[in-house]
Amino acid sequence: MSIVLNVSGKIFHVSKDVLRRSPLFNNMINDSEIDSVVLIERSSSLFKHVYAYLLDPQYPYPAKYRSELDYYLIEYDVKKLYDPYADLKREMNILREEIQEIKDILEDEVVKRGNCSQYYCDSQRARGSEYCECHSR
Ligand SMILES: [Zn+2]
Repeated sequence: MSIVLNVSGKIFHVSKDVLRRSPLFNNMINDSEIDSVVLIERSSSLFKHVYAYLLDPQYPYPAKYRSELDYYLIEYDVKKLYDPYADLKREMNILREEIQEIKDILEDEVVKRGNCSQYYCDSQRARGSEYCECHSR
């Protein structure tokens, strides 16, 4: 039931049933009866995360290493992977929306203000005045 993997020099004794959750390993195990060590040319430190994720889909697999999941043909939901910056990104989006609202308000304000009432003057009205900066003096 257990299988020996050599992942770039590091030996892992892992469960065949758990490995089968990766389509890549599943094909490998189906194709041949494996009784020797299986060599995998991938990062051994990242394999720990991959195996933990195969063991438990609730494992907070780091989003930045998702290319490893792709390699092992393991399906995942990007939104459910662990991203230490997720909260920060959410807050930044809220701020971005607030800034846009302020911009819209300011733009409306500028449109409302219109042009100077002085004959032949196309300058924008100063705040709280019917005239531009020059003509309101
Ligand atoms: Zn003016």
